[in-house]
Amino acid sequence: MTARTAPLADTGLWQAVVAAAAGRCQCRGTCGKTHKADAGRCPREHRPGAELTAAPAEPAQLLLPAHQAAALPKHALAAWCAPCHDASRTRARRAAEADTPPAQPTTLF
Ligand SMILES: [Zn+2]
Ligand SMILES: [Zn+2]
Repeated sequence: MTARTAPLADTGLWQAVVAAAAGRCQCRGTCGKTHKADAGRCPREHRPGAELTAAPAEPAQLLLPAHQAAALPKHALAAWCAPCHDASRTRARRAAEADTPPAQPTTLF
């Protein structure tokens, strides 16, 4: 278990997001990989030791401060595996860097 999964597991939101994603990462290439071999969607599934993260579905919103991201409705969230989440956030940050101050980490759970 990692600290990532704790807060939203308490509310059920994390479980709802991951269940809606069928327990599978919802990245469709924003991490920089095309996931072409897997019909355009990351094949990583939730399992012990490789938990999915519930985070904003829009890469730009991955840069939101945690309290703002936590206020997003469930349909604005997606399940991310750690590599896709981190890579998508890094790419979004690079894209936003020019006109936005550095954001806090937005891994919520
Ligand atoms: Zn992924
Ligand atoms: Zn990905």
